Order: sequence, then structure tokens, then C-alpha cells
Amino acid sequence: MRIDVLTLFPSMFDTVMSTSMMWKARERGALDFHRHDIREYAIDKHRQVDDSPYGGGGGMILKPDVLARAIEAVKGKAAMPVILLSPQGRRLTQSAAFELSREARLLLVCGHYEGVDERLRQLLISDEISIGDYVLTNGELAAMVLIDAVARLLPGVLGAEGAFLRDSHADGLLEGPHYTRPPLFRGRGVPAVLTSGHHAEVARWRRRQSLKRTLERRPDMLENAALNEEDRAFLAELSAERKP
Ligand code: SAM
Repeated sequence: MRIDVLTLFPSMFDTVMSTSMMWKARERGALDFHRHDIREYAIDKHRQVDDSPYGGGGGMILKPDVLARAIEAVKGKAAMPVILLSPQGRRLTQSAAFELSREARLLLVCGHYEGVDERLRQLLISDEISIGDYVLTNGELAAMVLIDAVARLLPGVLGAEGAFLRDSHADGLLEGPHYTRPPLFRGRGVPAVLTSGHHAEVARWRRRQSLKRTLERRPDMLENAALNEEDRAFLAELSAERKP
């Protein structure tokens, strides 16, 4: 997958995109990442990228002509989603990340100040994504969150193929707890089943822990999760135990 980002602060991406899994994704050839400085597409002598809003009020607005030039230069004739990071966009969820990971290319546009001119949004943006119901100062942090969530789903990025299928949100549930050495930590041991070597029992225990954790922390998720008869019976048991 190739991801291009239009940004006023290209250097913000340097550490994140050259560290840990994002670096591995690039090194393994799964992710081709390019960042472009929006200011390079401002052609007046002051390289102005923003201007004051019509109608007054505070803040500055990213100019549509500059952003359009940047988008069209990077995109060329290729077809790809042009995504504006925006607190007004559809929410970035694990299923949205899966959907985006199937695209060959993405072009991300990072807003700043008060945001972008509405006409640019209407004419050149095909999708808007929010990373949550709060407002950040810029779209760069949101773009990095999106890239990380998408890139780890690309084939060959995580060590074990399909490892992300066991993560929280992959199947509509939260993942259960994990344990590692030492076997005794500050008086607390490890559930015996995990050291039993009985793979089917471990899988059953993990499924049940996942259901329990989801019921305790995010019961709303259970409404849409794919549950079998055994899951439902276990949840009913847990709910009965929880009743005073
Ligand atoms: N005035 C805008 C509004 O109220 O909708 C907020 C602008 S915000 C200060 C500046 C930029 O940060 C936005 O253009 C967007 O690119 C980015 N941003 C802020 N919060 C975001 C969020 N929750 N998700 C994605 N991008 C966000």
C-alpha cells in the first residue's frame, strides 16, 4: 500500500514512521510512505497557506487553491480515496481500518488552524475521518493514528500472519488478559490452564475471558458481536452471577 500525506509539518512524521512497526512495515515493502509539505504548493512570494475567514471570527482557514494544487499534484490521474482528517468525519474504528487497508493507495490531508475551506472539502475530498470526539490542534497526529491502525493490518507487517485477528475489536469483542514469566509475581500466580499445555482448553479459556472482559467493560459491543450458543450460555451464567 502507498500512503501520501499532505501536511504543514512534515517533520512530525519522521520519528513515528521510522520507529518500531511502522519502520518494519516500510522496510518489508508493505508500506510505501510519502509526506508532502503543503507550503511547497503556495506560489505567492510569502508562501501563504492560510487566510482569515470570510464573515470574520477568529482563526485561519487553509486556502483551497493551495490545497487543490497539492492534492492534484500528488494524485495525478490515479484513483484513490482523498481523506481529510477531521473531528467532523466518520469515526476511525477497527472495521474502518480493515476497509482502508484493502486500498492500494490513500491520500491523507491534515488540517490545521480552523480547518479547510468548504469548497475544497466539497470538490476534492472523498472521505473524512475522525479519530474520536475531541478536537486536536492538527490533523498530523490523527493521520499517524490512522496510518498505524491501517499499516499493522497489511500482509507481512505483524510477525504472525493474522495476529491482529485476535486483537480487541477484530471480532467485536475485547481481548482477554495476558500473562508472562515470572510464574509468581508479588504473590499472584498464573491461571493453571495456561501452563497445562492443553491447547483446546487454553482456547476455550481465552474465549471466555474475552467475553467476560467485554461484558464488564464494553457491554454495548456484545449487541453486534458474532456469538455462538456456548458464548451466550456463558454470558447468561456471568450475568446471573453479577445480579445481587
Ligand atoms: N474548527 C474545526 C471544527 O470545529 O470542526 C476544528 C479544527 S482543528 C483545531 C484543526 C485540525 O485538526 C482539523 O482540520 C483536523 O485536520 C484536525 N483534527 C482535530 N481533531 C481531530 C479529530 N478528532 N480527528 C481527526 N482530525 C482532527
